[in-house]
Amino acid sequence: MKKHNFNAGPSILPKYALEQTAKAVLDLNGSGLSVMEISHRSKDFDAIIKEAESVMRELLQVPSSHAIIFLQGGASLQFCMVPYNLLQKKAAYLDTGSWSSKAIKEAKYFGEVEIVASSKDKNYTYIPKDYTVPKDADYFHITTNNTIFGTELKKDIDSPVPLVADASSDILSRPVDVSKYAIIYGGAQKNIGPAGVAFAIIRKDILGKVDRAIPSMLDYNIHIEKESLYNTPSCMAIYASLQTMKWVKQQGGVEGIQKMNIEKANILYDEIDRNKMFKSNVPDAEDRSLMNVTFVMADEYKEKETEFLEFTQSKGMVGVKGHRSVGGFRASIYNAQPIESVKALIDAMKEFETGI
Ligand SMILES: *Cc1c(COP(=O)(O)O)cnc(C)c1O
Repeated sequence: MKKHNFNAGPSILPKYALEQTAKAVLDLNGSGLSVMEISHRSKDFDAIIKEAESVMRELLQVPSSHAIIFLQGGASLQFCMVPYNLLQKKAAYLDTGSWSSKAIKEAKYFGEVEIVASSKDKNYTYIPKDYTVPKDADYFHITTNNTIFGTELKKDIDSPVPLVADASSDILSRPVDVSKYAIIYGGAQKNIGPAGVAFAIIRKDILGKVDRAIPSMLDYNIHIEKESLYNTPSCMAIYASLQTMKWVKQQGGVEGIQKMNIEKANILYDEIDRNKMFKSNVPDAEDRSLMNVTFVMADEYKEKETEFLEFTQSKGMVGVKGHRSVGGFRASIYNAQPIESVKALIDAMKEFETGI
């Protein structure tokens, strides 16, 4: 039986993408070769990577000022590549969770880091709103969706300096005004594809301004110039990502996907707020993530936590356990999560409540 997959990452992929990829793993377009067996310099792969770039450009309406590249090393390597390529003297960071903190740690290797605001005081249960970005910073770094804590910055903010966003877990979940960003990056394994590929959307004129020498593999300009083929890319992961992006197009693009995401998140948050046994981890509805819904057992039912987790497992659900730094539960309801699975979780919550 197919499971209701609430895993945070790697996570659920559309059936369409899995089926298309399964076919290509056995035989790519009748070529008699697997997508894992072809040269990354072949005509077949050239068509795949070019289409991946163009479908992503179309979905997010990426202007020609920005390049799109596919890389390896996950979002974590971007924590280092961003400052390597952009940080001359000082960078500003918004600290909204574990991933932001890790990005901050890496940036400190390259220069001064000013943390403009942090929600650490309340275990990252909100997105700070009152802060000033220093005008002399080389860039301002944000994490648009905090996968672990379940908060999300759902709009494109204004920044007086170039804006850099880690959008690992909410890319392609809504329309984005890419022109407002210098760099948008992320790992693919939350909302685009399998693990093994990362993406970066980069405003080209932001590069080439730091004094330091940059090793080739860490130099955005080299990857842009070589169109993501400086070295062997993750061919199979890029193929699977392309299939997911085609699926997003079939759903009415990011506008269509956004509508479904809002509906899925709304019904789940409504149930969390209604059900006396549970409470949301994020008090302010404005900050609640549409991708990772974090919730805990209400105080008087704390001892029922394991029981509820086991109950969800008995109903064919996986991945509902919260991250250890938050506890409780986390339902990751990325783009590919069907509303039927969200409804199954809601039904389980209702049934658990009536059963006590
Ligand atoms: C998962 C995640 C990361 C880390 O991604 P890796 O590809 O494992 O390096 C970074 N940022 C956010 C927001 C994430 O969700």
